[in-house]
Amino acid sequence: MSQHGHYRMSDVGKTVTVQGFIQKSRNLGQLLFIDLRDRSGIIQLAFDADHPLKETAETLKHESVVSATGVIQERSSKNESLATGDIEVKIETLTIHSEAATPPMLIQDDTDALEETRLKYRFLDLRRPVIQHNLKVRHQIMQATRKFLNAQDFLEIETPILTRSTPEGARDYVVPSRLYADAFYALPQSPQIFKQLLMVGGLEKYYQIAKCFRDEDLRKDRQPEFTQIDIELAFTSEDAVTALAEDMIRAIFNAVGEPLHDEPFTRLTYQDAMERYGSDKPDARFGLTFASFKESIGTLPLDFLTDTPLHGFVVPKGNDALSRKDLDGFKGLFDSLNATFIYLKKAETYSGSLAKHLTPEVTQTLDAMMTAGDTLILAAGQDALVGLGRVRLKLRDQLDLVKDAAHRALIITDWPMFEYDADTARYYATHHPFTLPKGDLKTIEGPADQLNSHAYDIVIDGHEVGGGSLRIHQSQIQKAVFNHLGIDEATAEARFGFFLEALKYGVPPHGGIAFGLDRLTMILAHTDNIRDVIAFPKTSSAQDLMSEAPGPISDTQKKELGL
Ligand code: ASP
Repeated sequence: MSQHGHYRMSDVGKTVTVQGFIQKSRNLGQLLFIDLRDRSGIIQLAFDADHPLKETAETLKHESVVSATGVIQERSSKNESLATGDIEVKIETLTIHSEAATPPMLIQDDTDALEETRLKYRFLDLRRPVIQHNLKVRHQIMQATRKFLNAQDFLEIETPILTRSTPEGARDYVVPSRLYADAFYALPQSPQIFKQLLMVGGLEKYYQIAKCFRDEDLRKDRQPEFTQIDIELAFTSEDAVTALAEDMIRAIFNAVGEPLHDEPFTRLTYQDAMERYGSDKPDARFGLTFASFKESIGTLPLDFLTDTPLHGFVVPKGNDALSRKDLDGFKGLFDSLNATFIYLKKAETYSGSLAKHLTPEVTQTLDAMMTAGDTLILAAGQDALVGLGRVRLKLRDQLDLVKDAAHRALIITDWPMFEYDADTARYYATHHPFTLPKGDLKTIEGPADQLNSHAYDIVIDGHEVGGGSLRIHQSQIQKAVFNHLGIDEATAEARFGFFLEALKYGVPPHGGIAFGLDRLTMILAHTDNIRDVIAFPKTSSAQDLMSEAPGPISDTQKKELGL
């Protein structure tokens, strides 16, 4: 492969062979110039008026593939917008490898093609520098991960793709088996069970860059198959796994050359994250953190403030920044959450619906936290924090609060072990059923809604990029957790029998974590489109427009499979 995008003035006089795709040509009658593109960039090829190959070169359509040999010379008219813009290759020989038909899309970063066209012709879309850059970032992340974990004595071990249902709780992709009628493989939702069994197997430190498959409800940023950096280690602790995760994230950001704030990652419990940010994946690159106003405004003798949490935050200079329409929008949001929205503006005095109820004590508290021009956003009610969290993110975008901020990571700990689902009237594991709850066996056998777990998430810029937990390594605890989940012995046996069997034969305490490679790449490549960081992605409705998967199979195949 040539690296022609790296040639500069210092290379003038060298004879080089360059190869690539024709980006465009300019025919000035006497002279012909061709822009040649390879992964490293673009270089100009120059043909003299009397060059025997000029005529042939003139007929070449863009995207045709050629190689050419010639001498690098200084250009007479330079192009500042191109890295190689001071030089060109004066062509001596030209080989045409393949002539291109007119492509259905413009092959450049700011293409005019619809995403549908780009995905149908992904092999052309991949030629765009921006996609090549994203895939390079992805490669750098994978290499940095391997380098970091190899240095710590981890082994990269593969686990099966044709397997049985795993415990993440999403819908499985299933594969019929030809040899066993009515029996199906499931594609792994993650290597969870296998990585734990590797610990039972004494492998101690495992990692894998693993494909995972979940047939979940469609969402813009979801792919039916995605990639995790999956890690598990024996004889570990919550602090050890999260410290490892922190070091690894730093190594990755370093390798890609992206700025990550240099303080240790902030550790927040799930509860604190909700109370300060109204989110279990806070964007900590900017302020606007919440406080409780229960002891101040909450003491005012008003019906809607009694017996309810009251949280809020000050928007500096909010009086100018927030329009009537913004505030009405916030009200609508809180109404839909069954929460009460209140605001107070500070100018010479306070205005807003609560202003006339303020007592001197409460005013004094507010004075200490607000200056003239500020707006206080408040919400009362059970789900008010979630609403405040959404308002906070809306203000981030509206007021451009994270412009130029370095990336910022948090570790969220102490997750509730279970979530109650009112529709099905049962508890679900917040992480997965093999997560170790906090406390002794007696506590764990106690009320489900009071249990926290040894689970942790890594959050960067408001995105969950990784999550994991310490695992249960004792049968009685596993039994207690299954009890809370309403999984009886027979069901447990049928679903995870081989795994429960393994727990009988000596199990090292262990734990691990998995990072979403796609999400990490999106952050490091600065894109919010997951399809831009995957070489051959599927649409948000789970189709591959290029290969047209999923597609039909023949009747013979169906018969063979007993379908
Ligand atoms: N298997 C888990 C997941 O995919 C991650 C872990 O617990 O390590 O969410």
